[in-house]
Amino acid sequence: MKIPPGHPRAESLHIREKLIEQCKKGVVTAAGLVAHGRGEAFDYLLGEKTTKPALKAIEAAAAALSLAEKPVVSVNGNVAALGAEDIVKLSHAVGAKIEVNLFYRSSIRERTIQELLKKAGAREVLGVGKDASARIPELGSERRRVDPDGIFVADVVLVPLEDGDRSEALVKMGKKVIAIDLNPLSRTAQKASITIVDNIIRTLPRLVELAEELRNDKKKCRMILTNFHNRKNLAESIRLINNRLAKLAKEKKCVTLEGEMLEL
Ligand code: ATP
Repeated sequence: MKIPPGHPRAESLHIREKLIEQCKKGVVTAAGLVAHGRGEAFDYLLGEKTTKPALKAIEAAAAALSLAEKPVVSVNGNVAALGAEDIVKLSHAVGAKIEVNLFYRSSIRERTIQELLKKAGAREVLGVGKDASARIPELGSERRRVDPDGIFVADVVLVPLEDGDRSEALVKMGKKVIAIDLNPLSRTAQKASITIVDNIIRTLPRLVELAEELRNDKKKCRMILTNFHNRKNLAESIRLINNRLAKLAKEKKCVTLEGEMLEL
C-alpha cells in the first residue's frame, strides 16, 4: 500500500505495513497484529511519545544489561519485525545473547525469524529447533521451551512484548526481567523487575544509545539501579495517563485522528 507522505498518521501506517508484510512472510502471526493494536491504543493514551518515567526505566534497563553477567534478549515475531537491527546493536553493546522465543512455535517460523536476525547482523541466534531443550518450570505454553545456554541460565532477560505468565515464571527463577510494554496494566508490566511503558520503536534506539554510554561506567550503573523503584515508576506512568485524560476532559478538548485539538 502506498502511504501519502503527508498523511497525518503516516508513521503509524508504515509500522502497520511492516507488520503486515512480515505476517505474509510468516514472521508475525495474526495474533501478533492484534497485540500491536492493543499497544497502539495505549500509545494514544500516552500521547505517542516517550514519557519521563519511560526514560527512567530505559536508563535502568541499560544499567541492568550493562552490569549483567549473562544477559539475553528474547525475540518474538513482532520484535523481529519492528526492531531486528536495534536488537543486534543492543546485543553487541552489552554482550547479550539473542534467543528466539515464540508463543506460536513452528520450526519454519523459528528459522524465518533466525534468518531475519542474521540478515540484521546477528552472529548467533539461540532457541531454534532442538536448541530449545530446557524448560521454564510451571509454564504451560510453548514459551516454556528455552535454550539451556540462553534464557535458562541468564541473570537478566529483556522481554519486549511479552505475556504475563512467562515474565512471572522468569522472575520466580530469580532472573531480573526487563519488559517493554505500552500497557502499564498488563500482567507483564506488573510482574517485571523493570518496566518500560513505551513503544518498542522508540525505546530500542534510546536503549542502545544509553547502553553504549553506560557500559564502561559500572559505578554509575549501580547508582542508577539503587535509585530506581519499578512500582513507583510504573505508578507514575498510570498517573500520567490519568492526568493527561483529566486535563483534556477539563479543557473540554479532544484530539482528533489528525492530531488536532477539537473543542467540545
Ligand atoms: P499480559 O499477558 O502481560 O497481561 P497481553 O495478554 O496483552 O499481556 P500479549 O497479547 O502477548 O499480552 O500482548 C503483548 C503486549 O505488547 C500488549 O500488552 C501490548 O500493549 C504490547 N505491545 C504491542 N505492540 C507494542 C509496541 N509496538 N511497543 C510496546 N508494546 C507493545
